[in-house]
Amino acid sequence: MSHYLYAIFGNPVSHSKSPLMHNYAFKGLGFNGCYNRYRLEEGNRLKEIFFTLKLKGINITVPHKEAAFAACDKLDDFARKVGAVNTIVEREGKLYGYNTDAPGFLKAISELEGKRVLFLGAGGTAQSTAVILKEAGYDVSVLNRSAGRLAKFEEEGFKTATFETFTPQRYDLVVNMTSAGLEDESLPAPQALLDAVIPQANACVDVIYGKETSFLKLAKTYGKPTKDGSDMLLYQGIIAFEHFTDYKYTFDEIKPHMQKAFL
Ligand code: NDP
Repeated sequence: MSHYLYAIFGNPVSHSKSPLMHNYAFKGLGFNGCYNRYRLEEGNRLKEIFFTLKLKGINITVPHKEAAFAACDKLDDFARKVGAVNTIVEREGKLYGYNTDAPGFLKAISELEGKRVLFLGAGGTAQSTAVILKEAGYDVSVLNRSAGRLAKFEEEGFKTATFETFTPQRYDLVVNMTSAGLEDESLPAPQALLDAVIPQANACVDVIYGKETSFLKLAKTYGKPTKDGSDMLLYQGIIAFEHFTDYKYTFDEIKPHMQKAFL
């Protein structure tokens, strides 16, 4: 059996859990693969480096998801629609691109009750996840501190507001889609706005993982169930692994092995 090489490309990339996740799954399932990390400085060299390293597949993280999109020969429909690729697989010399972040998030949020969702933040992750949630029948509103990134959401028919124009309503789920709280204790929106929406929500979700953010701490003071970004990370990894191994294993077969990276 051939030995297949995989990697995560990003900058920075040293913190990534992906090598641990995928190597646990390769080992547990007896698949002859090995997964490493590669700090990619220039996004436009992604394709050249992919082939130089003789890789079978990669995940791509910040800031190269748009460069990964541009490097692909073939894109699945959803990746084409959102313009961001986080998973590439090589087949017969061609690069196939997928976005597994958004379906990973959809799977994570579908474990919670309710379809009316408020996104705090309007960056790349909010963009792809809003589209997949809408397709799955969710009603997504987007609140961002500045107006610039909201235009694209408005074009796609989402309700949008900045902190200045926001009128609080009842949402089932409030989601931190920003990087606020990642490296500091800041909240994703002024506390007065959060105090107006959290008490009425069923649960609060954060895409940040590996720490309890100030946002989730605040949600807990209201007695709300919370979910951090670990499930999204796990599920996007499982879906990427399905692509990497050409659908040899099901989601449920991969999950218990990859989950070990979170213990
Ligand atoms: P982007 O840089 O594309 O967007 C950042 C967003 O956060 C913008 O809307 C920005 O607002 C807002 N923002 C940043 N800082 C603050 C702040 N202090 N207060 C309020 N708003 C702020 O980021 P991404 O979409 O790529 O990533 C967002 C988050 O998702 C990150 O924390 C990342 O770690 C996480 N993530 C988690 C994954 C997982 O598997 N769990 C997968 C992918 C991402 P503005 O437009 O005003 O600048």
